[in-house]
Amino acid sequence: MQKVAIVGASLAGLAAARALRRQSFAGEIIAIGAERHQPYDRPPLSKEFLTGAYTEADLALGHDDDLGVVWRLGVAATRLDPRGGSVHLADGEEIRADGVVIATGARARPVEHAGVHTLRTLDDAIALRDDLRRGGRLVVIGAGFIGAEVASSARSLGLDVTVVESLPTPLAGPLGPEMGAVCAALHGDHGVRLLTGVPVTTVTGSDHVEAVELADGTRLPADVVVAGIGAVPNVEWLAGSGLEISGGVVTDANGATGLPAVVATGDCASRDGVRSEHWTHAVEHPATAVATLLGTGAGRPPKAPYFWSDQYGVRIQFAGRREPGDTVRIVEGDPEQRSFLAVYERGGLTTAVLGMSRPKSFTRWRRQLRAAPQEA
Ligand code: FAD
Repeated sequence: MQKVAIVGASLAGLAAARALRRQSFAGEIIAIGAERHQPYDRPPLSKEFLTGAYTEADLALGHDDDLGVVWRLGVAATRLDPRGGSVHLADGEEIRADGVVIATGARARPVEHAGVHTLRTLDDAIALRDDLRRGGRLVVIGAGFIGAEVASSARSLGLDVTVVESLPTPLAGPLGPEMGAVCAALHGDHGVRLLTGVPVTTVTGSDHVEAVELADGTRLPADVVVAGIGAVPNVEWLAGSGLEISGGVVTDANGATGLPAVVATGDCASRDGVRSEHWTHAVEHPATAVATLLGTGAGRPPKAPYFWSDQYGVRIQFAGRREPGDTVRIVEGDPEQRSFLAVYERGGLTTAVLGMSRPKSFTRWRRQLRAAPQEA
């Protein structure tokens, strides 16, 4: 293989470039990125960057000049032609490569109202930070990780914050209802109003937002509105490529797609109908995908999925995969104190572990989680 094109120049794309060099690929690497920025880290966008603790410079992901990567930034790939191994760009250029790594990630699910913020990119974060600096009333639609972190950051900036969630508890999907209730209480501890179980019907205002209205008639006046209602994989450009697309680019555990010499990794890749939309996966999995591309082995054995979230000074960490019906047992600490460790169990096996402000014991339990039945 002489030339590899990496499409998506962010966390997983950079990790793929590093893995290519680490796995002795000496050929040409070209990384194509729709954003105009060099690779940067997204997790601080909802945390330290919003509060002002970090600047843009703090987000930079190692500008590894010694990787010898040609960066084509600010231009999107528009088409993959598997026959010639060509990637077509929006500016008309055609890049021929022997191997392609797809790492185009995801974008925030959009909201049909002008002035409502979403948060996925540095540019989104700059716009939101500027609005939050003006203070006032913030309404956050969606109490998932991004919504909760924005609420937490805005609260620390002194805004009056209301979070609206259509499900009965925040984070019920990943954490289950019991632990979701603990996350709900965390908002209350910090003076954030949380309204659950009621969907938003509309956002009012014309050139700027005025209020968020709920299905039960509640009207929430707002100066700033942020929607954190999930992400959509960036896969439209792959239409007609012959790749199977189902909730993302369909791959096996090693990142292999249905096309030879094309692998997918990071947030855009879907395995068994699930996309792993977490930082650690986007950093670790590209090494496996690159090993698949180069035909040098099966990469590393899959690890249990892992993510963290920082809310109101509490670090939430979760590893494994919870399923409805799993029982939850507190093994250490006290949920009332927002400092505890909980294990999820099914049929006598530990399926997942959750820690709040317990990083050391969480790490011990995470190591113990059996990797075999888990997905990377
Ligand atoms: P992305 O980071 O989405 O990058 C994909 C890149 O591909 C983008 O730059 C995009 O512009 C580009 N692209 C898209 N389409 C094209 C195209 N057609 N041509 C060229 N380029 C294209 N995870 C955690 O585990 N813990 C956290 O606390 C946490 N906090 C987060 C906070 C925020 C605000 C966000 C947005 C995410 C957070 N995450 C967190 C998730 C984590 O950042 C992602 O899992 C990770 O960024 C995924 O990396 P990726 O490279 O696969 O995709």
